[in-house]
Amino acid sequence: MKYINNKLSIEKINFQKIANKFETPFYSYSYSKLKENINNFKNSFKSFSPLICFAVKSNTNLNIIKEIKKLGLGADVVSQGELMMALKAGINPNKIVFSGVGKTSNEISFAIEKKILLINAESLSEVKEINRIAKFKNRKVNIGVRLNPDTDAKTLIQISTGKKENKFGVNKSILYEIINYCNNSNNINLKCLSVHIGSQILDYKPYEKMLKTVSQILSKTDHSFEYIDLGGGMGITYSNKNKKLNYKKYNTAILRFLKIHKVKIIFEPGRSIIGNTGTLVTKIIYIKESGKKDFIILDAAMNDLMRPALYGAFHKTLPVIKSYKISKKIYEFVGPICESTDKFITLKRFQKLKEKDLIAICDVGAYGMSLSSNYNLRPKLLELLIKGSKIIVIRKRQNYKELI
Ligand SMILES: *Cc1c(COP(=O)(O)O)cnc(C)c1O
Repeated sequence: MKYINNKLSIEKINFQKIANKFETPFYSYSYSKLKENINNFKNSFKSFSPLICFAVKSNTNLNIIKEIKKLGLGADVVSQGELMMALKAGINPNKIVFSGVGKTSNEISFAIEKKILLINAESLSEVKEINRIAKFKNRKVNIGVRLNPDTDAKTLIQISTGKKENKFGVNKSILYEIINYCNNSNNINLKCLSVHIGSQILDYKPYEKMLKTVSQILSKTDHSFEYIDLGGGMGITYSNKNKKLNYKKYNTAILRFLKIHKVKIIFEPGRSIIGNTGTLVTKIIYIKESGKKDFIILDAAMNDLMRPALYGAFHKTLPVIKSYKISKKIYEFVGPICESTDKFITLKRFQKLKEKDLIAICDVGAYGMSLSSNYNLRPKLLELLIKGSKIIVIRKRQNYKELI
């Protein structure tokens, strides 16, 4: 995204032009950025060609998943709905892994029917349930087990998953119990050890520590795992103040690991694939003055983009048409929803705004649309894929008939 003649542009088209054609608010995604992200990810780890499973929960748009599939990725899913979506996008079941702490019997049964690569179990009870269903179906099912490595990912507390106080995965002693259980089962093939320590991770050191823990565990068991699933969590640059994750160092740590353990590596990236491809374009409905600050009331709200309200997340916020007049007021960008947390960002020294101006909220490709809701009975937004100068509607705006 860049300004061309003071107009914020994506690929070969500017947002003003797109907004003239479609009403605001809408999500738009850049295809070339998506492709670049996937190629960069592949290149970072090319020496051991991992299986890269896109974490579907970060963006559940069917057409986005289709594009990601065409670029060679598999899928990491966390519900039957996501599994069905991945299959509908044409992703081969042998490139699909199923994660999550609370898979129901129906979901497990469905996953077994579809012959996916791995069901990554997160408790002994779940392993037993998979065993029961597999036995009933007279099948042998490939599973993974998720370890909680008790590693601090040094990320936001709300999106940290790899510490012992988090609900995810099992501890070492239960892991050994599960290995034992699986070795005595005719219906379960324990093929994978998985870890996922959190999201928006910008420091490679927690990954290094996680690998060390996995390595120690592997050395202490004679069970041979075919796969190690390292999860996702690679962070992106939301703010220019962010440091960047050092993929080289992460790659080096994995290569060191692979010298000792002959396994195939799986990754489950979500945010790092789709996060920076997406922009939410919204229009100022009203500007309300209030002492030193002005409320910039947008037509997008927390139901369309939850991250600021949910995690206090920062999203770069830009004017679609750039001017050089700076406002003396503090601007608080808010939505129309009846909640005080319906607030995107507060900025000083922004350019002077007026009603009907367009605003772009950046880096919303991951956990943007997929976390959106109909709260306040607001329709789900339009989604557009931009390829060069082509605009493709990849999801229509929900209409009121569907909603009511
Ligand atoms: C959410 C999740 C991911 C993806 O995380 P990102 O931070 O988007 O890369 C991968 N694996 C599991 C098990 C997850 O829950």
